Amino acid sequence: MAFGGALKEWLIEELHSIKDAGLWKDERIIISPQGAEIEIEGGKKVLNFCANNYLGLCNNPRIKEASIRTFNKYSYGMSSVRFICGTLDIHKKLERKISEFLGMDDSILYAACFDANGGVFEPFFNNENSAIITDALNHASIIDGIRLTRKAKRLIFNHGDMTDLEEKLKEAQDKKFRVVVTDGVFSMDGDIANLKEIVPLAEKYGAIVMVDDAHATGFLGKTGRGTPEYNGVKVDIITSTLGKALGGASGGFVSGPQEIIDLLRQRSRPYLFSNTVPPQIVVAEIEVFDLISSTTELRDKLEWNTNYFRKGLQNIGLSVKDGVHPIIPIMLYEGKLAQKFASDLLDEGIYVIGFYYPVVAKGQARIRVQLSAAHEKEHLDKAIVAFEKIGKKYNVIKS
Ligand SMILES: *Cc1c(COP(=O)(O)O)cnc(C)c1O
Repeated sequence: MAFGGALKEWLIEELHSIKDAGLWKDERIIISPQGAEIEIEGGKKVLNFCANNYLGLCNNPRIKEASIRTFNKYSYGMSSVRFICGTLDIHKKLERKISEFLGMDDSILYAACFDANGGVFEPFFNNENSAIITDALNHASIIDGIRLTRKAKRLIFNHGDMTDLEEKLKEAQDKKFRVVVTDGVFSMDGDIANLKEIVPLAEKYGAIVMVDDAHATGFLGKTGRGTPEYNGVKVDIITSTLGKALGGASGGFVSGPQEIIDLLRQRSRPYLFSNTVPPQIVVAEIEVFDLISSTTELRDKLEWNTNYFRKGLQNIGLSVKDGVHPIIPIMLYEGKLAQKFASDLLDEGIYVIGFYYPVVAKGQARIRVQLSAAHEKEHLDKAIVAFEKIGKKYNVIKS
C-alpha cells in the first residue's frame, strides 16, 4: 500500500481544480425504470427529456417478457469470451438479425459500441499502408480506436467540411488502404453526416466509408435503418450500439462485408479478450429487431413528437438549432445560465441537462432535449409550458 504522497497530493489538487472550474459532474439518482416518467431519489416524479431511449424500448413489456424467458432458460452469464465457450445459438441469431436489418453480409457483437469502435480499426489499419480520414467531432470511442493504429496516416477533416475532406482524401493517395470515418449523427447538435456527398467523394478517391450510427440505428430514415437510409446511400461498415434506441441495455456491433467481420472475429482485441452481451439482453435484442423490422410505428411516433416539440419551442420564442433529429439543442450560450435553467426545469418536473464548455465550445452552452416515442402529447405540452415559464424568468423569452 504505497498510495499517498505525491500521487495523492496531485489527485486532491486535480479534483479541486475540476470543481473550481465548475466542471464537476454529479450524477442524479433514479429509483424507477427508465421511461418518459421517472422517479428520482427523494421520490419526485419527473418527465425525462434526456435519455437516449428514442424508441421508448427501455421498459417495453414485450421486450421485457422475452428477456425474462431467456433469463429463466440460460441464466445470466457465460463466464467465457466468445471463442472459448461463450457463444450461444442466440448470439449467432442476433448477429444474423442485425445483418438482415442493415442489409450487410455479417455482424459481430461487442460488449459495447465503445468496444466496437475500439476494436474495429487496429486489425486492418495499424500499418504503413493505411490512411484514416476522420471527422474532427467524431465520438471519443472512434478517437480511441484510431489511437491504436499508430502506424497509419491520420487525417482529421474539419467537421462536416466536404472541401477539407476532399483535401484529406488527396493527401491519402500515397496509401494503399483508405477509410473515411464519421459519426452518423453528432450528439451535441443532432446534425446528420452528409453521407450523400461523403460516399461519392470517398468512392472517387478509393476510400471505404465507416459510419458510427449510435444515434440513428432503429429510427432515422423512413424505415429506421439509420443515416445511410436517411441519405439514400450505402456505406461499407456500420458500428452502432444496443444501448440507445434499441432497448438501451448494453452492447454494440460492427456490421459489414464478410471478410471484414471474419478478420475481426480473429483479431479484434475487445472481442477476443472480453465477455460479450449476456443472454437475457441478446434475446431482448432479437425481439427488438423483430419489432422494428415489422412496423415503423415507433419511429413514426418519434418523428411526430420531434416535429411537434421543435415547433412548440420555436413558437414560444426559444433559440432552437435547426434539424430533424430527436436531439434538440436549445441555445442559451452561457454556461451558468444553462445550469440554472436546467435546475429550474427540474423543479417544474422536467428532467433535462445543461451542456457547456468543454463539452461544447465556449459561448455555445445549451440545454439538450432528447425526444422519445414513449413521450405522449401531454408530456410535450407540459414541457413546453415549463420552458416558457423559465425562459421568461431568465429573459431568454421576452414577455
Ligand atoms: C453512445 C455512443 C457510443 C458508445 O456506445 P456504448 O454502447 O454505450 O458504448 C459510441 N459512439 C457514439 C457515436 C455514441 O453516441
